[in-house]
Amino acid sequence: MARALRLSAAALAALRAHAAAEHPREACGFLLGPAAEGLPPETRRPGAGRGLWTREAPFPSRDPGPRRDDAERGDAFADEALPSPNLAPDGALDTFEIDAALHLKLQREARAVGRRIVGLYHSHPASAPIPSPRDREGAYDHSLVWLIVGADGACRAWWPGPDGFCEAYLEVCP
Ligand SMILES: [Zn+2]
Repeated sequence: MARALRLSAAALAALRAHAAAEHPREACGFLLGPAAEGLPPETRRPGAGRGLWTREAPFPSRDPGPRRDDAERGDAFADEALPSPNLAPDGALDTFEIDAALHLKLQREARAVGRRIVGLYHSHPASAPIPSPRDREGAYDHSLVWLIVGADGACRAWWPGPDGFCEAYLEVCP
């Protein structure tokens, strides 16, 4: 089973509006959700400086419920989309650069309230929502799911991995 991204309708509406507002430049931003939901197999412990969760030592205090299989554990749930400035140089219409300082700040703020950044979104103002070669180069953090908004507003989700992007099942929920 492919790893999934469950996305709230409100977050989807917010990131689509951001994409439209930035047109013809690419819009980019963050997807956030509850920290305990859909923990990937290896995720840094919220609030701790080191240590990884493993199958042998699952997240102890905020167990999402019955133990799920590895594919499902890797699913992501996002109920919030927050914009980042696109720091790519002016005039660059086919690329984006997330604000790394904002990324760290949101990460800290999210951890403090039991949430986490589960993914990144960006728009392709003139093409399909399929990762570009440049996207593949920039996808070094395999714990973050990518959501791309295409020229026609259609969205597709992708998990980066060692062999490139693998499409995720995208489910929009209320
Ligand atoms: Zn792209």
